[in-house]
Amino acid sequence: MPAPQSKPLPEAPRVVIIGGGITGLAAAYRLQEEARAQRHPLAITLLEQAGRLGGKIRTERRDGFVLELGPDIFLARKPRGIGLCREIGLDERIQATNTAIRGSYIQKAGVLHRLPEGLSGLVPTRLGPMLKSPLLSPWGKLRLGLDWVRPPRRDEADESVAGFITRRLGGEAYANLVEPLLGGIYGGDGHALSLEATLPQLRAAERDHGSLLRGLLKKQADAKPDAAPSSAFVTLRGGMDELITGLAARLTDVDVQRHQPVRKIVRQGAAFVVHTGEMPPLTTDAVLVTTPARAAARLLAPLDGRLAEELDAIPHGSTITLSMAFRAADVPRPLDAYGYIIPRAEGKPVLACTWSSTKIPGRAPEDRVLLRVFLGRSEADDVFQQDDEAVVALARDEVKTMLGITAAPLFYRLCRWRRAMPHYVLGHLDRVARIEQRQAEHPGLFLAGAAYRGVGIPDCIHDGERAAGQVFDRILDFGF
Ligand SMILES: Cc1cc2nc3c(=O)[nH]c(=O)nc-3n(C[C@H](O)[C@H](O)[C@H](O)COP(=O)(O)OP(=O)(O)OC[C@H]3O[C@@H](n4cnc5c(N)ncnc54)[C@H](O)[C@@H]3O)c2cc1C
Repeated sequence: MPAPQSKPLPEAPRVVIIGGGITGLAAAYRLQEEARAQRHPLAITLLEQAGRLGGKIRTERRDGFVLELGPDIFLARKPRGIGLCREIGLDERIQATNTAIRGSYIQKAGVLHRLPEGLSGLVPTRLGPMLKSPLLSPWGKLRLGLDWVRPPRRDEADESVAGFITRRLGGEAYANLVEPLLGGIYGGDGHALSLEATLPQLRAAERDHGSLLRGLLKKQADAKPDAAPSSAFVTLRGGMDELITGLAARLTDVDVQRHQPVRKIVRQGAAFVVHTGEMPPLTTDAVLVTTPARAAARLLAPLDGRLAEELDAIPHGSTITLSMAFRAADVPRPLDAYGYIIPRAEGKPVLACTWSSTKIPGRAPEDRVLLRVFLGRSEADDVFQQDDEAVVALARDEVKTMLGITAAPLFYRLCRWRRAMPHYVLGHLDRVARIEQRQAEHPGLFLAGAAYRGVGIPDCIHDGERAAGQVFDRILDFGF
């Protein structure tokens, strides 16, 4: 068979974006808007392997319930989350998490304890509620307070999140407060996670103010009162996928191709050739890869083996999310918080149980309740070897013990997220710098997404937009 011919370059410069998750879509939208604003012709193609857009953002609707299989909320204070929603006309759809019922519990020795109020991010900043909390022993409380007088570390070397928190606030505060929250957000092991890559603001607080708590309190005091949103987290009224459908509807100048798994990217002179399984190879002036790092490694291996190795070496965590619907009458315990988290030290396969219909009003009909249980931290965990029925049995056992629910769920929806959460381990920033160096060897190649500079939705949007800016600059610089 003759080798497939690559398409001739179109008149307008071409940009190919690979991956139709939030990073790729945000990048495509930014590029389209930039090209329009500058009246610059640009042929933008977005290739997505799946039949749907959104990547990890997956919302399903059933019997009046709104089920999130992946992310359900995003941080309000990081500007590009709410910022993009507003830009694409979703202002009215932004919904804060429940402000009437707040807070979470932590499970300790099989009992649920209220997480003390006054946490700033992961760290307790109000000593009053901390002193009353049974989550810390008297010594643990004293040790936490010593942060005010302990001298700061002066050298610039990176350290693990666990190492830093233990150094500043003590081992109890780490194990009983910070580790469970960290696990809930990043899914990673705090002893491996890099402080500089994951929570640089905590190191900055120590560096600038001599004490972590002093630094965080100062930051809170400096924040303009009207800048504080009613809730730290927001979502979209009908589900997170409103962001995806909203963005997709606005990509009127982008050729969005679904069912197009990209197999490899190779160089052809100054251009790139993108090979998919289905279409003829696509020749392009610039290519922006927004797939997860492992997929990016596979695509880029023919172009640059060392770059592929660096990408492949970024570790990822796995988890299972299981949404379960119940009659409200079958739930004896009041669901008076956003849910509860289970510290690693409890040794359970269940990580957390979110009370979704309390956390986000409107996610279940009036007389119904929606819970979401998270199980497993890595693919190696036992729970990943079990079939769906066994996983559901584990979750039912958990909600029976902790919430007294003996009834079978009305229905459930299970999703296995394999190698889905990038972990920014020690040395991550150096790795990203090496990736950027390799990328610079291939002018016209760009990378963005959750694996590099932030895993949250606003971070991914920001990174997609950052990369789109670089792509556009290249198009202008080279007079394409
Ligand atoms: C269970 C879970 C819960 C989460 N909860 C939250 C939360 O509450 N709040 C929050 O802010 N963040 C949360 N996150 C993180 C956040 O959802 C992700 O970091 C973010 O959605 C990643 O977006 P992305 O576009 O970079 O990658 P992805 O969403 O992974 O998109 C990449 C896209 O590339 C496509 N692709 C892959 N290979 C190819 C190929 N060869 N060719 C073409 N296309 C390809 C994929 O199909 C996919 O559509 C959660 C993540 C998970 C897994």
